[in-house]
Amino acid sequence: MLKEFKADLHIHTCLSPCADLNMSPLAVVNAAAEKGIDIIAVTDHNSAENVLAAQRAALDKDITVLAGMEIASSEEAHIIALFNKVETVIALQDIVYANMLPIENDEKMYGEQIVANENDEVTGFNKRLLIGGTLLPAQDIINTIHSLGGLAVASHIDKEAFSIISQLGFITEDMGFDALEMSRNMDRNTAEIAFKMYSSYAWISSSDAHYPQDIGKRTVSFFMHEPTIEEMTLAFNNLDGRKVVWE
Ligand SMILES: [Zn+2]
Ligand SMILES: [Zn+2]
Repeated sequence: MLKEFKADLHIHTCLSPCADLNMSPLAVVNAAAEKGIDIIAVTDHNSAENVLAAQRAALDKDITVLAGMEIASSEEAHIIALFNKVETVIALQDIVYANMLPIENDEKMYGEQIVANENDEVTGFNKRLLIGGTLLPAQDIINTIHSLGGLAVASHIDKEAFSIISQLGFITEDMGFDALEMSRNMDRNTAEIAFKMYSSYAWISSSDAHYPQDIGKRTVSFFMHEPTIEEMTLAFNNLDGRKVVWE
């Protein structure tokens, strides 16, 4: 029997300089669970240091936290990486950190980058400049995500900045994206007209929440056996009855 899983696969925590300081891993998980969301992904900019805390905070709740990251390519295009395990996203983080300019975050200008544990205690501040682009071209990011067994999703392709389309002009099949994401301001009918040429892809839409009240403002439904990357891969490819539905 396939089950329906409500998913919001693009959520920032207080580690992202642009996100609200109230977006602690515990607060994010609690808010998502209260809203009846079954799967979330923690996708901070160029870092995954709050993923473990979010996964631990979810242990006693009926919610799955995927290990994610939103990477900014050298072309300043955002790409979401999704994995089952925190160890894998940390392996990606090692590669991302090795490909960032050695610039410190200016907290006054961009905001604090807080690392917290599952009990809502601050355990550190990330000093790297997470908000900028990495030195990794988009294609290298996609290939690296795949080599680690993850899913690569083109972030908010309808946005006029920081999307693959805004930065590169197009998406081609051989780039290998597993799905394309529309921002929460885009409605399905408009997307079907504007992005008709990409109708062969799985589409998702997510909240891209930076504030607690935005969590779950946009979700998609997965029909699959269990909340794993393997099942989501089947859903993105419409295989064995699995599917993802954005209404
Ligand atoms: Zn983004
Ligand atoms: Zn984002």
